[in-house]
Amino acid sequence: MEFVEHRQIMILGGGPAGFTAALYAARADLKPLLVTGMTLYGQASQTHCIENYPGFPEGVGGSDLGQRLDEQAKRFGTEIIYDTVQCVDLTQRPFKVCLSSTSYTVDSLIISMGADSRKLGVPGEREFTGRGVSYCATCDGAFYKEKDIHMVGGGDSAIEEALFLTRFAHSITVVHRRDQLRAGAILEKRARENPKIHFLWDTVIKEILGENSVNHLLVENVKTGQQETIPTDGVFISIGHNPNTGVLEGQLKLTEFGTIEIDNHMETSVKGVFAAGEIADPFFRQVVTSAGMGAAAAISATKYLATL
Ligand code: NAP
Repeated sequence: MEFVEHRQIMILGGGPAGFTAALYAARADLKPLLVTGMTLYGQASQTHCIENYPGFPEGVGGSDLGQRLDEQAKRFGTEIIYDTVQCVDLTQRPFKVCLSSTSYTVDSLIISMGADSRKLGVPGEREFTGRGVSYCATCDGAFYKEKDIHMVGGGDSAIEEALFLTRFAHSITVVHRRDQLRAGAILEKRARENPKIHFLWDTVIKEILGENSVNHLLVENVKTGQQETIPTDGVFISIGHNPNTGVLEGQLKLTEFGTIEIDNHMETSVKGVFAAGEIADPFFRQVVTSAGMGAAAAISATKYLATL
């Protein structure tokens, strides 16, 4: 492939980390090029209302926040490409990045490609995705008006999504593999007080069953080993995320969690390559922490470029 354009800095991934990095890099006059990836504004865009992003006391819609970050980054000269990263070569300098449309050489990179929904890996899951299996309540909730549905997971996302689904569904049963939620106290209290939300504790899904669409779940109690088939109109799965490091395979050090290893300056194991947001954060994974990492990565990249 021919590498047609050279850039000082590229930002791979257009979630809160990427757009904040772009804002800082643009304000340092580096004329950054940001590649959005498939999910414009990242996972945050799928959140109906972000209630813990500072400065928005009433909350802010995920895609609304994304659009604001986009406008702000563009205002200072960020160029945005709506494309996906096909390959990255960090073994030579300048680095190489190819997209499906164009290929670039680049002096410095900020990688902020986020993470994707984790899958259960049970029979029926893939087959019925989009036909009763969903990973996004904000996207698909409205299809489940007055339905009896299930939500798998016990973290903040699962509970927040279960609460969101109460707008539509007749009932939501949270299926969790332990007898205690991982979700924070406020969300747990809201869920327990909501008459539409029920809990199935110590339970895992063994198989998702259906014909044209999902109609039953085969579940197992992990304490007793007892299995039963229960009826459902659909199942939402919210069991965490896997970092999107596929195109970087073998080129950067990863942590035991599968995220990109970074130092205190957001620099990866390759000098001049920085990472920010969920692709490099196994611990916090908040919109505000991702944005903060993006800012820090851009400040570090600016200093790095000044040394070249
Ligand atoms: P998470 O905190 O990692 O929770 C994942 C949940 O899925 C856990 O309850 C886990 O069970 C369960 N799980 C994982 N693998 C499973 C499997 N194979 N089968 C069945 N269950 C499985 O992920 P998250 O809820 O997506 O949250 C990610 C981060 O974003 C967290 O830091 C969270 O605080 C943050 N977040 C914050 C907010 C907010 O503050 N409003 C909203 C959404 C997300 P165990 O509990 O047994 O491990």
